[in-house]
Amino acid sequence: MAGYDFPFLIPTLPAIQEWAPLLEASYAARHYSNGGPLSLEFNQKLKRAYLEDDYQAIAVTSNTLGLQAVMHALDLRGKRVGLPDFTFAATLQAVLAAGALPVIFDVDSDTTELDAQGVDDYLNDGGKLDVIIHVRCFGFARDLSPIRDVSSRHGVPLIVDAAAALGVPGERTFGMSGEIEVFSLHATKVFAVGEGGMIAAPKQLHDRIKAGTNFGFQEDRRFLDGTNAKIDEFRCAIGLTMLEKVEGIIHRRRAHAAKYISYFNETGFGRPVCSDLQNSWSMFPVIMNEPVEDQLIRDLYSVGVETRRYYFPCLSIGYLGSQSLEISANARAIELNRRMLCFPVYDRPVDEFWNELHDRFHGVLTRNSRVAT
Ligand SMILES: *Cc1c(COP(=O)(O)O)cnc(C)c1O
Repeated sequence: MAGYDFPFLIPTLPAIQEWAPLLEASYAARHYSNGGPLSLEFNQKLKRAYLEDDYQAIAVTSNTLGLQAVMHALDLRGKRVGLPDFTFAATLQAVLAAGALPVIFDVDSDTTELDAQGVDDYLNDGGKLDVIIHVRCFGFARDLSPIRDVSSRHGVPLIVDAAAALGVPGERTFGMSGEIEVFSLHATKVFAVGEGGMIAAPKQLHDRIKAGTNFGFQEDRRFLDGTNAKIDEFRCAIGLTMLEKVEGIIHRRRAHAAKYISYFNETGFGRPVCSDLQNSWSMFPVIMNEPVEDQLIRDLYSVGVETRRYYFPCLSIGYLGSQSLEISANARAIELNRRMLCFPVYDRPVDEFWNELHDRFHGVLTRNSRVAT
């Protein structure tokens, strides 16, 4: 294997022979995008697999464009959008592309997610927000009641960037309290098609959001703010095949995550960000006891194990563009940047590789903790 024996990401997508035949339907209809037969089927099946009854699925080309389309649909140009500092660049890029004004909030050190109390204080002190974006960090499907409560008390709508959170069909339904959720089907997420995404749209907002993904077109061809986020038939063929396989993939990934959970509980080298196995586990994030030095990452590399920092750097440090960011607070996000290290999670029978992977990183972490203390 090039570089690493244990690379950070090994995407698993369905084999070409599995999904290519589905495209016969699209070719027969000569309909390759803009609502071809596979995209209609994919939207229906995604809805059935993951969403509450009063929601509809809109498959799109990425989570980033899905978020942007949603913000266009909510008419947020020039409006104020609150979002957490500790997230992937995409969340901020979508806000900027929609022409909205970002207000950055700190996160909760336990969940690593948006600090609902901080948002509440900001609004109580006279701060103004037109929308709140909550991010499901690392795709963990946590209880959102604290931020939902702030959102409803202040009458500020909630959008959820749930990028990596699609899991086992039927196990957990999304869209429980009226908010819009947007997911990623990127190759690095567990439900992988390449580039792709899904919007969970409350029924009453479906047509507006759909227009946001289609240049903002209204029935008479005049147009509101919008973008092009429409998914093509090719990605839907892969997605339809993935729907059949994702449960098995997640079960194998959970077995791997379970090994890490016991390992970190036993050694105490760090605290797993989440220990609830009922998640899809695109990676295994740990808040290490000691600040993570680059040397530790290099030492792990030298024994063939690729680890990464996420979400690094956080928005307030990472963004170099020309828009000014209002930063309400970011101290805990910066501290998480110093301590968070993510380990790879694989879609392979864990007994085939765990002992070797364990022996390699355990040696490095043991030496590292001795040096540190
Ligand atoms: C991966 C990710 C995105 C981007 O998703 P794309 O489908 O690549 O646009 C956005 N937000 C978070 C939190 C992510 O992890």
